[in-house]
Amino acid sequence: MSSIFSKIIKGEIPCYKIAENDNFFAFLDINPNAVGHTLCIPKEEVDKITDLDDATYTGLMAFSRNVGKAIESTIDCKRVAFTVIGLEVPHVHVHLIPLNTMQDATFLNKVSLTKEEFEATAKKIRAKIE
Ligand code: AMP
Repeated sequence: MSSIFSKIIKGEIPCYKIAENDNFFAFLDINPNAVGHTLCIPKEEVDKITDLDDATYTGLMAFSRNVGKAIESTIDCKRVAFTVIGLEVPHVHVHLIPLNTMQDATFLNKVSLTKEEFEATAKKIRAKIE
């Protein structure tokens, strides 16, 4: 069965898309730790990051770095955290989380955004993708 993230890639479930290329996809996390919290995923559905082949692993990191730079130049933050957890969705994803305090990295403090705020955030980050 397809993961929820594979369904997002195929357009079967909506998302606030940030970037896409042949192998990778980025979209806003629906329950963000901070405004701009983004998930970067390989299109290939693999559960654990340790099971990725070398090319997909390094490609995912390069793609994530590029998206991270766009977030840093859009969102007011000290830096962008790269976090991999994967306990909820069994499809590799790198959380890119704009950080101002350590609390932003804990997954305990969540921010609530309207559809319009998600859309505006995604649009601003997309405009900075190189
Ligand atoms: P984890 O697997 O523990 O790294 O967390 C999965 C992340 O995916 C959580 O931060 C969720 O908020 C996020 N998430 C789950 N479903 C969606 C969705 N449909 N769109 C965007 N983000 C999602």
